[in-house]
Amino acid sequence: MSVVKVREVCDGYAIDIKTSEESAEVISLFFNSQRNAETVKRVLEADEKEQTVDVAEVVHAYWEETTHITESKRGRTIHSKLYNCSNCGAPNGRKKSSYCHWCGARMDGERRKNEK
Ligand SMILES: [Zn+2]
Repeated sequence: MSVVKVREVCDGYAIDIKTSEESAEVISLFFNSQRNAETVKRVLEADEKEQTVDVAEVVHAYWEETTHITESKRGRTIHSKLYNCSNCGAPNGRKKSSYCHWCGARMDGERRKNEK
C-alpha cells in the first residue's frame, strides 16, 4: 500500500491509498481534520518503510510451557499443559503449532532445558 496524497474535500480531508503497485485501484479514507489525516498518512508511510526493511527478518521464538493444575468435580487433579508464545506472550492453548498466529514468529527458537 502506498499513500498517494492528502487532499481537501468538501467537509474535511481525505487520504488516497493505492492498494497495490499493479492495480490502479485507490481507496480513500476521510478525516474531519487535516491533523488527523496527516497523522494517519505518517503512520502508513512509516509502516511501509518498516515492512520493506524487515522483509527478510524472521522472528524465532518457542512455546513456553506452563502446567495448569485444576481439580475435577470428583476431586481428581488434572494437569494440563498450555503454551504461550515466547515472543509476544500470546496463548496458543494446548497446541504447539509451527508458528505463532499472533506475531508470526517461527517456533524453532531456543527452548530452555529446565522443563520437565
Ligand atoms: Zn507470538
